[in-house]
Amino acid sequence: PARTERRPIRDLPDELISQIAAGEVVERPASVVRELVDNALDAGATQITVRLMAGGVRLIAVEDDGCGIPQDELPVALRRHATSKIRDLHDLETVCTMGFRGEALAAIASVSETALLSRTAGQASAFLLDARSGELRPAARAQGTTVEVKELFFSTPARRKFLKTDATELAHCVEAVRRHALARPDVGFAVWHEGKLVEQWRACPSGPELSADDALARRLADVLGEDFVAQSVPVLRRVGPVTITGRAGVPDAARSRPDHQYCYVNGRFVRDKVLTHAARSAYEDVLHGQRQPVYALYVEIDPARVDVNVHPTKIEVRFRDSREVHQAVRHAVEDALAAPRAALATAAAT
Ligand code: ADP
Ligand code: MG
Repeated sequence: PARTERRPIRDLPDELISQIAAGEVVERPASVVRELVDNALDAGATQITVRLMAGGVRLIAVEDDGCGIPQDELPVALRRHATSKIRDLHDLETVCTMGFRGEALAAIASVSETALLSRTAGQASAFLLDARSGELRPAARAQGTTVEVKELFFSTPARRKFLKTDATELAHCVEAVRRHALARPDVGFAVWHEGKLVEQWRACPSGPELSADDALARRLADVLGEDFVAQSVPVLRRVGPVTITGRAGVPDAARSRPDHQYCYVNGRFVRDKVLTHAARSAYEDVLHGQRQPVYALYVEIDPARVDVNVHPTKIEVRFRDSREVHQAVRHAVEDALAAPRAALATAAAT
């Protein structure tokens, strides 16, 4: 309704500011899962376990074996714009961690019942912080962190109404973990729902025994299926400051839906028109109609040449020189697709 009488300008209460921010960062349980797994990876975890109830609406608990949060910093972790990951503009412009905005925990805590349980290497016991009451007490846990998020959107029923069935929300949560798992074969992941193990991907760290390519291939096979690996070719191309690795499916592996197209920039899953267009154009001559290629492509680029601070969820990025990246990706995939045919042709000729 139109209002003629002007009201005075006021600062919003902290809680409401966080709830507004939560509107951008936390759309559904899967958004919480993504943020918490990001945090676990930033903490150097090697094993991450996600436990869900009712598609994540009743409970999302993410456990890691990372560095932990010291007792006196637990309340700080929940504050808005509080982060251990950047200190100044230079850090922001060269950021290598998944997080840096210091928003996620505050936003999540403002729309749920959140508790942090954490222990660092130096501590004799773990500590548990209840976000709502602020109560902090000793508790039992090995080194690492568990973040427990209960009753998501209980305080914002408008949001809660937009949630789909538990099965749909669960599928989104699993997809969120899958995206992380494809970027980090060196980390083990497990997802539980209602006390049942839904997915488990064991850590396969590369080293003298296992090359990074083989570790990735193993993880891709675990997560996307043996067929994905059997019907794809390795991608490797270095052009100036851009390196592209991963695997591209052969044309026969194409699907009717674009559901096996994974793009990463410096380890972060992204949805980016430049990358999807570049990949698609590499298939121009070999794929017709609406068939969707499958691929998992990893772009490594000097962090100063890409801006990840475009959107609160960081799923979008902006490249300083998007033509450079487009060409690198296109050529990387084209070369990869041409290679096996060249090899076959040679084999046939001899
Ligand atoms: P950001 O990740 O952008 O820094 P968050 O709100 O997600 O912001 O987290 C705030 C801070 O809490 C982080 O900077 C980090 O220091 C700490 N933290 C959060 N989760 C974990 C975790 N699983 N292990 C260790 N530290 C964590
Ligand atoms: Mg974070």
